Amino acid sequence: MAKLVRGFRDIFEPQSKNFTELENCARGVFSLYGFSELRLPTVELKELFIKSTGETTDIVQKEMYAFEDAGHRQLAIRPEGTPGVVRAYLENNFVQNAPVQKFYYIGNMFRAERPQAGRYREFEQIGAEYIGNSAPAADAEVILMLKDIVQRFGAKNYKVKINSLGCDKCRPLYRQTLIDFLSKEKETLCENCQVRLEKNPLRVLDCKIDGARFIGRVPTMQLCPECQAHFDEVQALLKGKIDFEVDPMLVRGLDYYSRTVFEFQAGDVSQNAIAAGGRYDTLIKNMGGPATPAIGWAMGAERVIMARGDVPVQAPAAIYVVSMDASCNQTAFNLMQALRAAGIRTEGGLFDKNIKGQMKQADRCQASYALILGTDELAAQEITLKNLETGEQKRIALNTLTEEVKKLV
Ligand code: ATP
Ligand code: MG
Repeated sequence: MAKLVRGFRDIFEPQSKNFTELENCARGVFSLYGFSELRLPTVELKELFIKSTGETTDIVQKEMYAFEDAGHRQLAIRPEGTPGVVRAYLENNFVQNAPVQKFYYIGNMFRAERPQAGRYREFEQIGAEYIGNSAPAADAEVILMLKDIVQRFGAKNYKVKINSLGCDKCRPLYRQTLIDFLSKEKETLCENCQVRLEKNPLRVLDCKIDGARFIGRVPTMQLCPECQAHFDEVQALLKGKIDFEVDPMLVRGLDYYSRTVFEFQAGDVSQNAIAAGGRYDTLIKNMGGPATPAIGWAMGAERVIMARGDVPVQAPAAIYVVSMDASCNQTAFNLMQALRAAGIRTEGGLFDKNIKGQMKQADRCQASYALILGTDELAAQEITLKNLETGEQKRIALNTLTEEVKKLV
């Protein structure tokens, strides 16, 4: 028998409904904030992610689904959305025509990670990118917009952490301080962190294995006056609008972040980040565009849903149409379509089964009423309406059917 690939999932109702609900909720909030939807391709040149996400990141080093296509192009199935958004922004010349852009995207991302609860190889991200605004107001806006979505959707008990990673002026200093500090314990670091130590020491603090042991004793970053002022203002704008905590250990796992970074966390497990993001003021320039500030975030749909729990299942179909004889099938089918056209949720059509089989299916569908059409009824241009709860039944004229049914449901 055909089998599902490890790390991938089939999502049935009611779980699939959670996604639709979250997406709708996000769309509503995005429109309030003036973000417009950007539908991105699933496949990009592999190089795009190497250049933007970063060569030393887990995503690029270990998690990317990359392949060569028949035309010998090196491609990758997107592991995240930001690089694609920036590519689209540059390629479509927004820089010249309308440099300030607010985009959102909703789509599946792919990472070859070890599957576990809340960590899948294909998962959904809802993301936002605010391009062209360097002011702290942009940082505060995207963070509050994220809170609005999470809150409207109904996820509770999450924490918001923010930090500043400084800029190209202040970060190199911290980098060196960190290298000096971490080098003293190099042998005790995990294999990955020993490499990270040389290439990107900040990422050691984000390590799922080693990160926690440095809490409270690792030297913290000294921001330059500009970065400190920016960070202070972001906090002032957020104050009173959202509960947050400044966490100097929050460094994020991507290469392109500068200044403000943030994470929404729920629960204590390692896959606790329900959404995360930050400023990336140098990425657009590094990708060949003019220096353009930007900030964004991505939310893991599965994790936000886990943080909230399932919603009640939608009410089942109200009406189930049964045909007792082959000569009645066509009329019965036409009635089903007429009821649906009148906005009534209708099931039926299992006409190859006998009446018992059809009534059993009506039961399985948890229909409230059955409409039963036999040769007798058809001859009289009527149909039997059966209340499946009480067993009560009566005949109604076909030409008043939709009106009668509408009164019931
Ligand atoms: P983590 O630290 O949990 O690996 P990350 O730093 O790799 O997360 P990002 O690249 O910032 O995550 O992606 C943003 C969000 O996407 C995460 O906060 C998380 O909610 C979700 N996410 C990331 N990877 C996965 C995955 N493999 N399965 C499900 N959701 C994921
Ligand atoms: Mg990850």
